[in-house]
Amino acid sequence: MMYYTCKYTPLEILAGFDVETCRLDPHPDTVDCANGCAHPNLCGFGKALIETIHTQNVREVILTDCCDVMRRIYDVLLTFEDLDFLYFLPLPHKGGPLEVNLYEARIKDFIQTYEAYSHKTFDVNKAIQAYLHQPDLPDKTDPYIRLTGAHGGHLLLEKIKDTFPNVNVMDDTCSGNRYVEKEEVDADHFIHVYANHVLNQRKPCMRMLHTENRNKDEHPIGTIYHTMKFCDYYGFEYMNMKEDVNMPLLKIETDATPQSSGQLKTRLDAFAETLGVKKQQSRKVHTDQPIYIAGIDSGSTSTDAIIMDENAKIIGRSIVATGIGATQSADKALQIALEDAHLSKDQLTNVVTTGYGRENIGNHADSVTEITCHAKGAHYLHPETKTIIDIGGQDSKVIRIDAQGIVENFVMNDKCAAGTGRFLDAQARALNMSLAELSETGLHWKNDITISSMCTVFAESEVISLVADNVAISDIIHGLNKSVASKTASLVHRIKGEPEFIMTGGVAQNAGVVQCLEQALDAKIYIDDRAQLCGAIGAALIGLEEIR
Ligand code: ADP
Repeated sequence: MMYYTCKYTPLEILAGFDVETCRLDPHPDTVDCANGCAHPNLCGFGKALIETIHTQNVREVILTDCCDVMRRIYDVLLTFEDLDFLYFLPLPHKGGPLEVNLYEARIKDFIQTYEAYSHKTFDVNKAIQAYLHQPDLPDKTDPYIRLTGAHGGHLLLEKIKDTFPNVNVMDDTCSGNRYVEKEEVDADHFIHVYANHVLNQRKPCMRMLHTENRNKDEHPIGTIYHTMKFCDYYGFEYMNMKEDVNMPLLKIETDATPQSSGQLKTRLDAFAETLGVKKQQSRKVHTDQPIYIAGIDSGSTSTDAIIMDENAKIIGRSIVATGIGATQSADKALQIALEDAHLSKDQLTNVVTTGYGRENIGNHADSVTEITCHAKGAHYLHPETKTIIDIGGQDSKVIRIDAQGIVENFVMNDKCAAGTGRFLDAQARALNMSLAELSETGLHWKNDITISSMCTVFAESEVISLVADNVAISDIIHGLNKSVASKTASLVHRIKGEPEFIMTGGVAQNAGVVQCLEQALDAKIYIDDRAQLCGAIGAALIGLEEIR
């Protein structure tokens, strides 16, 4: 079995040897071996490839120099004694006549090398058959979602297909879409024609010199752009693409290890809701009883519930800690909110859930992402809102909405605790303070100090050192608040957020953070005492729309 990764790998030539091929699509749990033998700045995909080749008994590999990382992987693989066959195919960066001749010569060299290794003879007619029978592209006149950027792998692709079950998904990443136009060709000229087609007709990857036409004639209903840390080629393309505000674009960055599927699902579901692909349900209600709706937001830190009457008036509410588990907390939050509204569960007409635990609570209630729910909730709390800043326990989001409370665009930080409520919670613990004390004390700062550690754990050490140096606690907290504010402001700038701003999520109760964020944005932020309930309010409003 010959393993490969790049879409420029000459699979049709390998078919001329009757050799089976398999695309390496690595998602190892750890990259211990790669960390030991490769440069630390190797991208996640490179490390995952090395790890998989090492652990999965891979014996035959062909690499192309489609990017610098492949050359480095090749150098590492040269030291792997278990590999029987390792070939590095140099790939020209453009498709002029000289480059086509060069690529033809390199393919011929590969054929000779493989013949010597396998003692098989290359059968050009089998290669031609494989070339002529490549699968066609899906019909682009049907609505489609385009996955592009760096290699995303089958896990991401499957998740996208699950999220968009009724539209085509086109894999245009650097390892997908091998499609080339085909033409009848005789055996004598085949390798030249093939080299020309691969270099000039295959949709170019970003490592090629001429990429101007990469996105020409592309009219997907949405583009999902996959990037990877240290992958400059695709990082730059994304930077340019995101300037086109008319293209619905979702950026997903992974590191080729199995990611937190909950966070990925939230992003994809929210994108589907924004594109209108995931339609809101409608429920028929046959009742002459009064209408009551529950919205439940199952977050990482708190589970919040809202009861609304048919006039969208909030008549019951609750906030409980999620600690005991999503289902139990949701039951408890709903029970308390019902008691607050003087209602029983069987009086509820509809329930809608949101938050990370949304699909595991509410007994098959409809579930909607917190992005859409915060948009509805924020519009309800403050109809002038254009930009929502939601800082919760485990992530922060900035959502731009239109005058009807519909999501226009959103960004999320869910990779690192810095800039989230959890960062502040850890510092409050280090300072032995309650969250309310942290919030209040942060307002009374005198000296403007900066906490330079980006990481939650290192920031905690920095705080402890500052306390030992007798720095005023209020100044330390102000430094922490500034750090959260600066990370959040950069998210706001990323999606060109503009006033009016509203802050939702639990951290909206931290007056010190709000003050720093107002300074960083040079704008007022609307704060409502129901900020933490915003997701649940949005869910209840959607529940109301469903029965209307
Ligand atoms: P999630 O939706 O992820 O459960 P929340 O929106 O409930 O998160 O926000 C939780 C965060 O809110 C906590 O991590 C904490 O930092 C902050 N928070 C909660 N209560 C307070 C408070 N009284 N004062 C200041 N911050 C608070």
